[in-house]
Amino acid sequence: MYLWPGSQLVIDCRRWMELPKWSQGIDTTCVLCKAGPESRNHLFFECSYTGQVWEHIAKGILCNSFTNTWPEIMEILTDSTREKKSLFCIRYAFQAVLYAVWRERNKLRHGDKLLPLPVLKWMIDKGIRNRITLMCRQGVKGMEGFMQYWFSTRM
Ligand SMILES: [Zn+2]
Repeated sequence: MYLWPGSQLVIDCRRWMELPKWSQGIDTTCVLCKAGPESRNHLFFECSYTGQVWEHIAKGILCNSFTNTWPEIMEILTDSTREKKSLFCIRYAFQAVLYAVWRERNKLRHGDKLLPLPVLKWMIDKGIRNRITLMCRQGVKGMEGFMQYWFSTRM
């Protein structure tokens, strides 16, 4: 599923889902919280670790419609009736968090240490801000509006 063509963060979710052993019936425990099965729904974002990251990034955009369950997030991401700025930001946020969570998960699997939650939240926030600012500077049409919206959703 391509959410944002032209972005380096564009991720083909189908490919992602093939990487873990979920489909082969191999039992794996989530390395991030060590308290749940490492399923797609758990990792994105029912997990106590990733759920907090997602909430930090997405709550200001989704407000009352905030959810951490995959099917509901998919509904939001594909809802073309949603306001354009809101849709752009939530898709962007989703990809950034997905990417960061996946990186942390892989790091842990290779024996690295987990980043403390506040650090990861800050890094994702900063990454998105930098990218939007860059697109603004490059004169991408309509980016100022997106940037203002993004900052207005930061809590
Ligand atoms: Zn977990």
